[in-house]
Amino acid sequence: MAVHRNLIAGEWVEGKNAARNINPSNLADVIGEYTRADAEQAKQAIAAAHDAFPAWARFGLQGRADILDKIGSEILARQEELGTLLSREEGKTKPEGIGEANRAGNIFKFFAGEVLRQAGEKLASVRPNVDVEVTREPIGVIGLITPWNFPIAIPAWKIAPALAYGNCVVFKPADLVPGSAWALAEIISRAGLPKGVFNLVMGRGSEVGAAILADKRVAGISFTGSVPTGRNVARSAVERMAKVQLEMGGKNPLVVLDDADLKVAVNCAVQGAYYSTGQRCTASSRLIVTEGIHDKFVGAMVDSLKALKIGDALKPETQIGPVVDQSQLDQDISYIDIAKKEGAKLAFGGERLNRETEGFYLSPALFTETSNQMRISREEVFGPVANVIRVKGYDEALSVANDTEFGLSAGICTTSLKHANDFKRASQAGMVMVNLPTAGVDYHVPFGGRKGSSYGPREQGRYAAEFYTTVKTAYTTA
Ligand code: NAD
Repeated sequence: MAVHRNLIAGEWVEGKNAARNINPSNLADVIGEYTRADAEQAKQAIAAAHDAFPAWARFGLQGRADILDKIGSEILARQEELGTLLSREEGKTKPEGIGEANRAGNIFKFFAGEVLRQAGEKLASVRPNVDVEVTREPIGVIGLITPWNFPIAIPAWKIAPALAYGNCVVFKPADLVPGSAWALAEIISRAGLPKGVFNLVMGRGSEVGAAILADKRVAGISFTGSVPTGRNVARSAVERMAKVQLEMGGKNPLVVLDDADLKVAVNCAVQGAYYSTGQRCTASSRLIVTEGIHDKFVGAMVDSLKALKIGDALKPETQIGPVVDQSQLDQDISYIDIAKKEGAKLAFGGERLNRETEGFYLSPALFTETSNQMRISREEVFGPVANVIRVKGYDEALSVANDTEFGLSAGICTTSLKHANDFKRASQAGMVMVNLPTAGVDYHVPFGGRKGSSYGPREQGRYAAEFYTTVKTAYTTA
């Protein structure tokens, strides 16, 4: 089997060793072998990006826009193939995989347009005969470190703005799912970028990631992943005063009020909590339900969960694919045990399932009779596990929703305009959904959270410029 290699200074190079990429729906299916860089190779990639930066920062805008547009077009033209690869390696269903590839393509198209829309400001000075200009400039070499759960969209929403604003990139994808990252890098490698502007270094976080964090030539780090790793990234970046942006975990609440449309609420809860196997930072893992609708809601949820088809991610009838790997499955099962020990009632699921092929199948778990103080309500499980918290009315629902260390996404299902409006204002989350699942966002608007979920400027849309550029103020007098 040919080993997929890293891209450094425009050359495909092998690392020190290689890892097999395994299909979580069928452990006998090896997707490919992917090389792993060591710290030395990560440094070579950083050096290449550093050397390429001065010319790329001044590269013609039309050329830059055309390159991004070309990358976006190829991703869109190949979305079915890329989405299938993504489902095969990560375990989300094929429509979810294709949807993610489509998002990645559209993100490159969006930032191709942004290349040409980089406006500055010209102002009069407070002093006579002086003009002031405020412009944005690229920051230099950016290290991009990404998680396994969105293996093409998250890399796209970091790489596209980094390149659009004139930065050079050293990209380290998650070790577990290198296939989509490699396919994306291969497309980027043929789009016309000068050598060294974009580099791929697959490998371990503790080695390749750590080398990126430590290198003074890396001016900014954009990280998405877990809270503990994020804290470590922030410490390293601040230590040497590099710019840093973190997107981390969530414990996202979905509030369901007595006046909600039950069908809408159940649909939001099932989609938000369990689709993509619950492996989304925006998953609705806390279902906060007022007492008048509680029993009806739980009954309808259980009926819905019974009907869900859990199976091989690539099969057309599958609605929920497998968990990504053994260690995530162990984590999910351990939280199911913790919840039971803490007195929560398992209303449905939480069982290992056997399918035709050996894979990490788990039935979606729903707990009831839980409090917001239980660990199941406070810690991110990152699997198909959600719990219902019963509350008296809207005020308690809002206070429970906000009583968390996280603040990424929050939702409410209600037909009351008053409560919907109040929730939009009072929710301590970066993204708020009314009668929509907490997961599922547009690609042209800011994405990110508050409190322990995010740190630094927002990602995506025009707000991406905050992280990927630095501002210059210039004064002129005749
Ligand atoms: P993780 O923190 O284990 O790994 C993320 C990345 O960091 C990987 O590329 C990993 O190799 C790298 N890494 C690990 N140790 C490192 C080190 N010492 N130095 C530098 N890099 C290192 O996270 P994961 O398990 O891949 O992803 C799941 C987590 O990601 C969940 O907590 C989820 O909520 C979060 N997530 C957040 C968002 C968001 O936008 N808020 C989106 C998707 C996922």
